[in-house]
Amino acid sequence: MFNLILFGPPGAGKGTQSAKLIDKYQLVHISTGDLFRAHIQQETELGKKVKALLASGELVSDAITIAMLEEEIGNHPAARGFIFDGFPRTVAQAEALDKFLEGRGDKIGTVIALDVDEDELRKRIAERHKVSNRPDDAAEKLVKRIDEYFGKTIHVLPFYEGQGKLRHVNGIGEIDAIFSELCQVIDEHLK
Ligand code: AMP
Repeated sequence: MFNLILFGPPGAGKGTQSAKLIDKYQLVHISTGDLFRAHIQQETELGKKVKALLASGELVSDAITIAMLEEEIGNHPAARGFIFDGFPRTVAQAEALDKFLEGRGDKIGTVIALDVDEDELRKRIAERHKVSNRPDDAAEKLVKRIDEYFGKTIHVLPFYEGQGKLRHVNGIGEIDAIFSELCQVIDEHLK
């Protein structure tokens, strides 16, 4: 089993790179943002609960997010491993994930932070907003999402650094060049 966390601010390219990585390494992609959006679209109870939070760019509570994530992991008993995208976003989530995986005799292999500066993020999300239909990609909502990232999510990095699992990859450049850097880091880990 190989579990990877692809870490980075909104617009870092986590979704794009995850799609390529799952093909190459035969992993299951779990994006908590995608899961929440599916619940909202299907108008489930959970979807109704989180709709306003997602629209505003605020984080959903740890309890709700962790429960949803654990359920999703359980939905893939045959998985060879997972790519976590957009999770964990708080230290409490990171601790819960470690504990959950440990209970299954499993663990996080590597955490790769895709580094992209704030100016570039704003540019990318403005572009994405033209085609994404995501209300939280609007400029005024992005401020909140970037605040949440630098206020809460960034503290997840020292957590994994302390475990010796954190690697950095420059997230600016050609998609394929970034992908091959990610593969190098992963292959080094899998060696
Ligand atoms: P994303 O697609 O990863 O940018 O996530 C979109 C939105 O979903 C975020 O702005 C949050 O409202 C919510 N969300 C996604 N993942 C998490 C998480 N791990 N913890 C809390 N909220 C989350």
